[in-house]
Amino acid sequence: MIPYGRQDIRQEDIDAVVSVLQSDFLTQGPQVPLFEKAVADKVGAKHGIAVNSATSALHIACLALGLRKGDWLWTSPITFVASANCALYCGAKVDFVDIDPRTYNLCPNALEKKLIQAKKQGRLPKIVVPVHLCGQSCDMQSIYKLSQQYGFKIIEDASHAIGGKYQNEYIGNCRYSNISIFSFHPVKIITTAEGGMALTNDDELAQTMDLLRSHGITRNADLMTKPSEGLWYYQQIALGFNYRMTELQAALGLSQIERLDSFVEKRHVIAEHYNEILTNLPITIPWQHPDSYSSFHLYVIRLQLNKITVTHKQIFERMRTAGIGVNLHYIPVHTQPYYQQMGFSQGDLPQAEQYYQEAISLPMYPSLTIEQQHIVYKTLEDNCVG
Ligand SMILES: *Cc1c(COP(=O)(O)O)cnc(C)c1O
Repeated sequence: MIPYGRQDIRQEDIDAVVSVLQSDFLTQGPQVPLFEKAVADKVGAKHGIAVNSATSALHIACLALGLRKGDWLWTSPITFVASANCALYCGAKVDFVDIDPRTYNLCPNALEKKLIQAKKQGRLPKIVVPVHLCGQSCDMQSIYKLSQQYGFKIIEDASHAIGGKYQNEYIGNCRYSNISIFSFHPVKIITTAEGGMALTNDDELAQTMDLLRSHGITRNADLMTKPSEGLWYYQQIALGFNYRMTELQAALGLSQIERLDSFVEKRHVIAEHYNEILTNLPITIPWQHPDSYSSFHLYVIRLQLNKITVTHKQIFERMRTAGIGVNLHYIPVHTQPYYQQMGFSQGDLPQAEQYYQEAISLPMYPSLTIEQQHIVYKTLEDNCVG
C-alpha cells in the first residue's frame, strides 16, 4: 500500500531521542524550551508553547483568548473536527463559514456576509479559526481586516502548514492573528509522534497558555498572590491541564525541524510532477494563490464528475483496492452526527458539501518516488476513463 502520508525518520532522529532517554530528564527538562525557541525563531514568532497535540493547543488558545459560555467561534467546515471542538470544550458555540471554491479555505467574502448578518442579530463571533488547508494559507489580510472591523480574535489552525509561506513570510508568525497552531502528528510536515505548538507575539497570551498547559501552576514569584513559603513552593492560580510535551518528543522535533525546508521543497517537486502527469485527466488539480507558498501537506484533486461515468466512491474504492492509500480531507464537520444534533443540516454550506462530493487526497510525503507517482496516475487514469 502506498499511504497518503508518511513520516520521514532518519538515524539522526533516532539518536536524538535515544540520547534524551539516557539523560536526566524525560519530561520538563531542557529540550522542550529549545524546541519552542527553534520553532518560534524559524517562523518568526515571539513565543512558542509546546503541548501534547494541536488539539490541546487549540483548547488553551481559546481559553487564553477568553472564550466561554455564550460566545461563538467560527471556523471552516472543511477541517479536522478539532478546529471546531475546541470551542465546545470551553462551553462556547460553533458556527461555520463556507469555503472559497478555488482554495477550499474559509472564504473571506462568505465571512463578511455572515458577519453583517450576525451583527444585526447580536451574535458576532469572539474567535474565528481560519484553517490553512493542505498547507496553503488563507487570505489572512482580508480576514484580519474584518477582525479589526468586527472585533473578533483570530487563531490560525496551521496544523498543515509549518514550512509554508504567506506573502513571502513563514506561516505561524502571527502577523495577521493572535495565535497560530501547529500539529506534529506523523502525517504532518514534521513530527514529534503526537505534539503541537501554539505561537504568539503577545507576552500575556504566552504566559496564560504556559500556565494552562501545566495545571495552572506557577513557580514564578511575580505571578504569585503572596510571598513564597520556601524553596518547595508553587501556586495554582488557574485551572489548567496536563498538556505537556515530553523531552523525547521535543528532541525528535528539534532533529526534524533541521530538515523542514528540505521536506517542503521535496513536497513541491512532487506536487509539480503530479501537476504535469495529471493534466489530461478529468480532474481539477490544486490551485495556488499567488500570495501562497504551500507546505503541500496534502495534494487534493477534485473529480470533474460531469466528465466521468463512474462515481467518486467507486474511484476511491478502486484506488484503495489497487493499493493506493487515498484519503478524503475532510468530511464537512457540520454533517457529523454530533454537529447535526446541534441543528446543522445538509445544505447549509453548499461549497463545502460540493467539495466533499469530489475531493480525493493523493499520496504526498517526502519519500514518495516518481515511480509511485506514476502508479497513482495510471490507477487514476484506468479508473476515471475506464
Ligand atoms: C491534525 C489536525 C489537527 C489536530 O492535530 P493533533 O496534533 O492530532 O491534535 C487540528 N486541525 C487540523 C486542521 C489538523 O489537520
